[in-house]
Amino acid sequence: MSTAATREVPFFNYRMAFKAQEEEFVSIFRDVLGRGAFIMQRDMFEFEKHVAEYLGVKHVLSVGNATDGLYLIWRAVGLNPGDEVILPSHTMLATPAAVHFAGGVPVPVDIDPADHMLDPEAIEPAITEKTRAICPVQVNGRTCKMDRIMAIAQKHNLIVVEDAAQALGSKFRGQFAGTFGVASAFSFYPAKVLGCLGDGGCVVTNDDAIAHQVHCLRDHGRDAEGEVQMWGMNTRLDNLQAAFLDFQLATYQDIIDRRRALAEVYQARLGDLSEVQLPAAPGAHADHYDVFQNYELEADRRDELKLFLRENGIGTLIQWSGTAVHQFRQLGFTQTLPATERFFQRGLMLPMNIMVSDDDANYVCDVVRRFYGK
Ligand SMILES: *Cc1c(COP(=O)(O)O)cnc(C)c1O
Repeated sequence: MSTAATREVPFFNYRMAFKAQEEEFVSIFRDVLGRGAFIMQRDMFEFEKHVAEYLGVKHVLSVGNATDGLYLIWRAVGLNPGDEVILPSHTMLATPAAVHFAGGVPVPVDIDPADHMLDPEAIEPAITEKTRAICPVQVNGRTCKMDRIMAIAQKHNLIVVEDAAQALGSKFRGQFAGTFGVASAFSFYPAKVLGCLGDGGCVVTNDDAIAHQVHCLRDHGRDAEGEVQMWGMNTRLDNLQAAFLDFQLATYQDIIDRRRALAEVYQARLGDLSEVQLPAAPGAHADHYDVFQNYELEADRRDELKLFLRENGIGTLIQWSGTAVHQFRQLGFTQTLPATERFFQRGLMLPMNIMVSDDDANYVCDVVRRFYGK
């Protein structure tokens, strides 16, 4: 029984993330600033190349953040006003916002209660004559059942664009998240599995036409030769951020391995509790390779548990502040989605990142067990 109620396990320790690699970050900073290399320089292009090699894709276009990336994709695929895009309600408001600003209509649908991902069964009932696309969200670093989603898309002639913001390195049947649809976006927000020191993101595609469009749209309409080809915006990844990211990408597998090891600790210590339903353990399903962007479980008496953990120095988070997309009535949504609504009363995310030690994770488990009287 733990008496060390003094241990602090923050949900995400931004200062420690910096301190752990301070020397390396400072030398990158010196190097990049010493070269005066700020916008669209060598580091950005090299980082794009390395992500493309990692994922085995033709084009990686870095952008200011994943929200912009999704927006540019929808512009590039030519969403028409009123085109409907089916997406899971368990996602960040960024996913439907990108559709909205591109002129489309986001249509949130329910999640599979077993894995909290877009439910393939929920897609077909939501298809209308206006449906143009499906936007699966690879939430928590897991990849949706893409075989079924791609089959539905093919049958109904729909575009698939993945919101892979949380899932760099995640796979379904050996294929990387972000490589199933015509294009996808990844986020490098600091708390993402591959995070930079501010905002960042990229668009990934094997489609030359989409790549060309995104290339121009992100940089004032200019192509690789600097010639203006169309109206454009400014949403570029800072070269300095690209340098920080490229440094971390070199040991990215270690980051994934560490997160999966932490998930194993949570599984081993909490798997017997009937009051919580844990996410699938690493390797539990042969089809899925998860990178554990988040460790999101379902808990009885969730709000009380959250408070108890807080009192014991443990930071947790309720994803998207506890509101599913379709619950934002002020944005015009009217759907009722039972599985999503139930999940949003029970979902809680435990600390999951490389600053969390095994001792930290065991302490979290001790406190969760104590809360349930185990
Ligand atoms: C983080 C996130 C985004 C937004 O990414 P930004 O880089 O912060 O714009 C979009 N969708 C999902 C699912 C996310 O988790």
